[in-house]
Amino acid sequence: KYIIEARELVYQYPDGTNALNGLTMQIKEGQKVAVLGANGAGKSTLFLHFNGILRPRQGQILFDGRSMDYRHRSLVELRKNVAIVFQDPDHQLFSASVLQDVAFGPLNLGLDKNVALAKAREAMRQTEIDTLSSKPTHFLSYGQKKRVSIAGVLAMEPRVIIFDEPTACLDPRMVDKTMDLLHRLNKQGKTLVMSTHDVDLAYSWADYIYFINGGQVAGEGTPREVFLNR
Ligand code: ADP
Ligand code: ADP
Repeated sequence: KYIIEARELVYQYPDGTNALNGLTMQIKEGQKVAVLGANGAGKSTLFLHFNGILRPRQGQILFDGRSMDYRHRSLVELRKNVAIVFQDPDHQLFSASVLQDVAFGPLNLGLDKNVALAKAREAMRQTEIDTLSSKPTHFLSYGQKKRVSIAGVLAMEPRVIIFDEPTACLDPRMVDKTMDLLHRLNKQGKTLVMSTHDVDLAYSWADYIYFINGGQVAGEGTPREVFLNR
C-alpha cells in the first residue's frame, strides 16, 4: 500500500527553471525511503509537493490513494499527515523558547493547550532536548537547533516525516544519534523519507532507494537491487 504517490510531476519555478520533469515515485506505508541526487536534482522541490506547499503544473500527488485536489480542507489534512524537517533549522524556529517552538505545530493544528504541551514534552524527550525547554532557540548550537526542529515535527504526530539532508553539517556522533532516532521513529510506525548525499548511509538505512537527476527518477530499487545493478 502506497501512502504517497507522485505521478508524472512537472514543476517550473516562476523564473523558468524546470525543477521536475515528469517525476514518478511511490512511498510504501511504513518504509524508510532514501532519495539520492546531486544538488539541484529536484529533491527539495519534490518534497514541497509531498505536503502541498507546491502544486505541480502537470501530474498529481496521491495521499493514501486519494488524488490531491488542493482544496483548503485537503491541504490542511495533507500537512497534518506529511511533515518536512528542513535542512536549515532556522527556517523552522522562530519562537522565544524551545518549548514554545516545539508546541507551535500542535497548537497551530488547533489542539487544546495542555494537550499540545504534553505532545511537545514527549517529542522533546524523544529527541533528548528536555533540558533545553526554556532556552531561547537562537542561543542553541546547530545540532541542538536541528533536534528542536525535529521535535517540532514529531509533536504534530504526522504519519510521514520527510528529512531534507538530516545529517548534513553534523559531527559523526550526532549523525549516529540522528540515525538512531530515525530508526526508532520507523519502528513506531512512521513512514520516513530522507534525502542525502551519503550513498553508504542510504544503503545501510533505507528499505528502498530512489536516484533523482534532472527532476526525474534516474534509478530505483531496494539497496540489494541497486547494489547488484551497479
Ligand atoms: P513489502 O514491504 O510490501 O513486502 P518489500 O520492501 O519487500 O515490500 O519490496 C518488495 C518489492 O517491491 C521489491 O522487490 C521492490 O522492488 C518493490 N518495492 C519496495 N518498495 C517500493 C517502493 N517504495 N516503490 C516501488 N517499489 C517498491
Ligand atoms: P535539490 O533539493 O535536489 O538540491 P532543488 O529542488 O532545490 O534540488 O532544485 C531543483 C532545481 O530548481 C535547481 O535547478 C534549482 O536551482 C531550482 N530552484 C530551486 N528553488 C528555486 C526557486 N525558488 N526559484 C527558482 N529556481 C529554484
